[in-house]
Amino acid sequence: MNVAEIITQKRDGQSLTDEQIQFLIDGYAKDSIPDYQLSAFAMAVYFQGMTRDETAALTGAMLNSGERMSWPAGKPKVDKHSTGGIGDKVSIPLAPLLACCEVDVPMISGRGLGPTGGTLDKLESITGYRCDLSNDEFRNIVNWHGCSITGASGNLAPADRKLYALRDVTGTVASVPLITASILCKKIAEGISSLVLDVKWGSGSFMKTLEQANELANSLVEVANQFGVKTTALISDMNQPLGRMIGNAVEIDESVDILKGRGPEDVTQLTLKLGVQLLISAGVCNDESSAMSLLKEKIENGDALKKLGEMVKDHGGDLSAPRKRAPKTVVEAYDDGFVCRVDAERLGLAVIEMGGGRKSLGDSIDHSVGIEFLVRIGDEIKKGQPIANLFCQPDQQEYVNNLVALSIGTSPVAAESPELVVGRIG
Ligand code: URA
Repeated sequence: MNVAEIITQKRDGQSLTDEQIQFLIDGYAKDSIPDYQLSAFAMAVYFQGMTRDETAALTGAMLNSGERMSWPAGKPKVDKHSTGGIGDKVSIPLAPLLACCEVDVPMISGRGLGPTGGTLDKLESITGYRCDLSNDEFRNIVNWHGCSITGASGNLAPADRKLYALRDVTGTVASVPLITASILCKKIAEGISSLVLDVKWGSGSFMKTLEQANELANSLVEVANQFGVKTTALISDMNQPLGRMIGNAVEIDESVDILKGRGPEDVTQLTLKLGVQLLISAGVCNDESSAMSLLKEKIENGDALKKLGEMVKDHGGDLSAPRKRAPKTVVEAYDDGFVCRVDAERLGLAVIEMGGGRKSLGDSIDHSVGIEFLVRIGDEIKKGQPIANLFCQPDQQEYVNNLVALSIGTSPVAAESPELVVGRIG
């Protein structure tokens, strides 16, 4: 097979066969097809899309690039994945919370992608935390504690590891088939039986409209079910940051707050709602209210926080070690009015400018920087009022301050605050 011909075929809008897709992904995973050809392929897919069959073939090819885990009979294996957002730290409190509820959570996560933060980058702000576990280490931690959050290291979906990093720096992230295959190959490789997906829509997500989010949710749910994983998707709001904290160390601090029962309302609610879907899907609870009560009980009695500490310890980390924050400055509102719009993507980019995310492949991350965003859509604000706290190195304060101040739009009349969960598929 000829790589250039396959790329040309896709560029011209023709469907590819399973064999062609397998050939490309195989070659890329084995380094016989270079980054520049896969970049061109990703761009062709970005513009031309893929049929559901092609998307399933791409998912299968990425899955087949590595091993698929299997587990002895025991507790149901479940997982959650988000399509990526600003301030989205839900995986970090949710995995240990679920692990207290008779399910195991073998969670393979990713790094920052485009303006959105990555669970692994956040976890690495915990002193000593390792995200590069071998499959045996990962399996052991899941068996001991019921949850582990690691990277797709070793031989789990290695093709995604390469392609994910390439897409991040080639403008090819926001593509329904590429996101579908990227998320699902990792999830299916975990050997789980149930999955809940948090599909984001809005200014801080890859899907800017509700229509696009629905399309992605349908693609994810259909392909996942095709691979035998019982899957539900919630469509949730990403028109403003989730919670107050955006960054790495600051998001770990907020995750701990959620498990102490004093996290912000929106991110706590979303964590619980996603957990509810999985407890029902796994057969642990029969209905939403009993699932919700069980999850709340595990927060209130401290079990979930204890579980997070145990998981972190087994990953080599120390949750109680203080996490450094860069020097704080305050961003003030430019105008009076009601907050009617937040450019959440701009906030994500501001964190990247501060060094909290990557501009190119291989950039290192400053875990100490971040934003505490203090206002929500619908709030009334006065000129000069603090709208955010920046944790930032002094040489960047002025530039980032402007970015953050400009991320808010105001109107003279009160705007409605957006609904957190707007749909459910599956
Ligand atoms: N998360 C992933 O794992 N992959 C994507 O492409 C987007 C979000």
